[in-house]
Amino acid sequence: MKNNGHDYWGVERWRLILIVMAGLLLGWMTGFWQTCIILSLTSYIIWLLYKLNQLHNWLEKGGKAQDIPDNDGIWERITYHIQSTKKKSNVRKQRMSNLLKRFQGIITSLPYATVVLNANNEIDWANKASMELLGIQLRIDRGQRLENLLRIPKIQKLLAMNEQKEIEVSMLYDKQTKLAIQLIPIQKNLKLLIARDISERVSLQEMRKNFIANASHELRTPLTVIAGYLEIMQADEGLPENLKAAVLAASGQSARMQSIIEDLLTLSRLENSELDANKIDTINMAKLIQTITNNETSIDKYPHIIKLDLDENLSIKGIESELASVCTNLIHNAIRYTPENTEIIISWNKNKEGNAVFSVEDKGSGIAEEHLSRLTERFYRVDKGRSQDTGGTGLGLAIVQHIVNRHKGRLEIKSEIGKGSIFSVVF
Ligand code: ADP
Repeated sequence: MKNNGHDYWGVERWRLILIVMAGLLLGWMTGFWQTCIILSLTSYIIWLLYKLNQLHNWLEKGGKAQDIPDNDGIWERITYHIQSTKKKSNVRKQRMSNLLKRFQGIITSLPYATVVLNANNEIDWANKASMELLGIQLRIDRGQRLENLLRIPKIQKLLAMNEQKEIEVSMLYDKQTKLAIQLIPIQKNLKLLIARDISERVSLQEMRKNFIANASHELRTPLTVIAGYLEIMQADEGLPENLKAAVLAASGQSARMQSIIEDLLTLSRLENSELDANKIDTINMAKLIQTITNNETSIDKYPHIIKLDLDENLSIKGIESELASVCTNLIHNAIRYTPENTEIIISWNKNKEGNAVFSVEDKGSGIAEEHLSRLTERFYRVDKGRSQDTGGTGLGLAIVQHIVNRHKGRLEIKSEIGKGSIFSVVF
């Protein structure tokens, strides 16, 4: 074999030839041919073993460059190969370790608590923020199951489910501390748990919710008094003619304000309370929808062609008053926002996936695409003037969305300009 102009095997061949020739010469001189050949070959084997031993000892001592045994021939080449492979692997190791250090540095300095878990939810690694937010001390807690350290049922459930999800929890040591905890399964034996402190955001939200609830509550009583007086004035036959229109308008506006306040209070109540398991019943939705439709059509000033398609045997579990509010809002909107004599199809059926679906389809003027995603925002109206004319508060769909979320359903809105809209609640 020739490498860099060197014939390493050639050197070895020559070495063997010389030894055999030395044996032959000795045999010719002494006449003991066989013994001399065996002797010369044995000494070659011993020399090979010595070289192997040298190589072995060098490798045992760590194969350092300064300790390379003095070699020639193929032995020089072998040591050279071992050396260069080692060098390459050292460079690779260094690169990997640098990369690891950089990643560790990044994760360590993240403001989010990051915990690396194995398949049994045992802690493999955790960053500095995990100590502050979750109380995990890597030195002591490495190898411990996270469920045993964080005895919070919601976290234990999240870990047991083992799927990518985010939850919000209050910490046991301090109820004011609210954390958003996200589990990210990466591989079979590797998952990340990330925790963020959201106390400030939650407390601001609480403040906003409380403010709206308190303000609405405080406005309720004075408004009832004003509405009462306006009613008395309206009924008073001695009311001067020139004031009648003004009193009527004021009465209409106070009624609208009362509706807004009632809707705001409903929204606050929905936001501030969890679904009460004691109030959950099996609801005969077909009957409920039928009753609501009858009520709504009886007060419909501009009649519509109402078609009902209800599965009498399909019932769901939920809170009747809340589901009634969903149906009322959607049917009421379909009637309010579509011209008279157009068709409205109200249905309650199972879809292809087997989910119960309540839907209200109208043949009105439809809603432009850009509004669809914002319809459930508070006070969002497509046509402000029209909504106010029809007595809308702008809160109906926000209430619907809240109730649907509480019932673990989803609200789907499809609409096409000129053709109409379909509002569906999938349970
Ligand atoms: P509002 O009390 O104003 O009706 P909602 O939250 O119920 O408030 O509805 C928000 C807006 O969505 C309405 O102002 C209206 O512009 C639009 N909208 C709702 N339902 C329909 C519908 N069936 N057809 C057309 N527009 C609708």
